[in-house]
Amino acid sequence: MAAACGRGLLAPLGGRLRACPRASLRSLTSAAPLYDVVVSGGGMVGSAMAAALGHDIHFHDKKIALLEAGPRKEYHLPESYSNRVSSISPGSATLLSSFGAWDHVCNLRCKPFRRMQVWDACSEAIITFEKDDLDDMGYIVENDVVMSAVTKQLDAVADRVEVFYGSRAVGYTWPLPSHSCDTSPWVQVELADGRRLQTKLLIGADGHNSVVRKEAEIQNIEHQYDQSAVVATLHLSEATDNNVAWQRFLPTGPIALLPLSDTASSLVWSTSHEHASELLTMDKESFVDSINSAFWSNVNHSDFIDAAGAMFRSALSLLKPSGTAVRQLPPSVANVDPESRAVFPLGMGHATEYVRHRVALIGDAAHRVHPLAGQGVNLGFGDIACLTHHLSAAAFNGQDLGSLKHLLRFETERQRHNVSLIGAIDLLKRLYSTSLSPLVLLRTWGLQATNALPPVKEQIMAFASK
Ligand SMILES: Cc1cc2nc3c(=O)[nH]c(=O)nc-3n(C[C@H](O)[C@H](O)[C@H](O)COP(=O)(O)OP(=O)(O)OC[C@H]3O[C@@H](n4cnc5c(N)ncnc54)[C@H](O)[C@@H]3O)c2cc1C
Repeated sequence: MAAACGRGLLAPLGGRLRACPRASLRSLTSAAPLYDVVVSGGGMVGSAMAAALGHDIHFHDKKIALLEAGPRKEYHLPESYSNRVSSISPGSATLLSSFGAWDHVCNLRCKPFRRMQVWDACSEAIITFEKDDLDDMGYIVENDVVMSAVTKQLDAVADRVEVFYGSRAVGYTWPLPSHSCDTSPWVQVELADGRRLQTKLLIGADGHNSVVRKEAEIQNIEHQYDQSAVVATLHLSEATDNNVAWQRFLPTGPIALLPLSDTASSLVWSTSHEHASELLTMDKESFVDSINSAFWSNVNHSDFIDAAGAMFRSALSLLKPSGTAVRQLPPSVANVDPESRAVFPLGMGHATEYVRHRVALIGDAAHRVHPLAGQGVNLGFGDIACLTHHLSAAAFNGQDLGSLKHLLRFETERQRHNVSLIGAIDLLKRLYSTSLSPLVLLRTWGLQATNALPPVKEQIMAFASK
């Protein structure tokens, strides 16, 4: 039988919980420490979830655990930028501010951008988004900076949130909605080293290969894209305000240049797996040339599409003279940071359910998107804002945190938002992955028309900035 051991609060368990006979399950669960909430997965989303709950006023008497398979990282801000960055929306900045992490981000390193220019490599079609007022459109932040800021805020509530690094969860046992006295009413969590704990609510934030999702047998609609993303830190030929996020849709996939400072930008280039491998191994001069050519070359243009696009553009400008875009030229790239090139396979996924009795999925565990819209972690931060709101209300009212009643409200609200965005991102990926003339013409006219309609652009901006 398990007894309390010398390894912190967790107790060891021999064998998987699913196999335990009822009598021994009862005695084992009584020895495992009980938490109000366990968050499984301490990436950007899981860590922020635990910090948001830890700082919530109605959670002051609650016990939270955060499980992270990897070790604790100490973040010393190096002079060079990390190659992993995220475009953080104003809504995500508000979420991070709600528990004090955004001030740390701003004090460490972050680059606001005021304009976004997206254009097609197969035509002259372009769309620009910008803020008329002094507001920022978003912020380019290194993932390490987000993690450092959130970890500081986790440390600040260490009395409420216990973080277990190097602790991989390998098995979960789910309670029946109406348990008999022979079964535990709580979710049982087993760690790789045999320790175990139990919780009233398990939040799965363990990434796109989520063990929580699989063990809860929640169906995931997923597919791998025929693309990988190459990331790198780039140096520009000359210093500029560098406050524009650039993205060009090539037939092989989108290439994006995200500002980091007056002289540095981050590359996210989604392309075929073969081309990605080439980009990773070519010498740095050829790599830099490939990037400049991807932004500047008109090799994919055709006279027919250019003429049809020009006619449509002039028709639009007659109808709406102020609606056409001012095209800016992207900066040219001079160099790449050594060792900063890396590649990530891309895929999409969406869990058909985000919640079950005593379980909720957030972040990439619930949805995975192509990086072309820079929305992945922002969707996860949106999940946190929504789930924290409902759990805080439940805690205030003395309700059971794991009850489906409020978990279902979270699921409905988030699926309403996420499903449309995930569908739009997937459609864009497909629409721009071709150089077939009819489709190029269709998307050229679509982009030009959208660009000429400021109310539509404002709606898109409002939706993406949540
Ligand atoms: C090239 C690229 C560019 C991107 N750019 C952007 C962008 O600009 N803007 C944006 O919003 N998003 C962007 N994204 C998406 C974004 O990076 C992800 O959506 C985000 O990192 C997901 O965070 P997460 O915490 O949900 O999952 P993850 O980052 O996958 O974290 C999961 C964590 O769970 C831990 N874990 C896993 N299994 C277990 C277990 N069994 N027990 C304990 N711990 C476990 C892992 O160690 C990990 O730390 C980009 C993605 C890529 C690939």
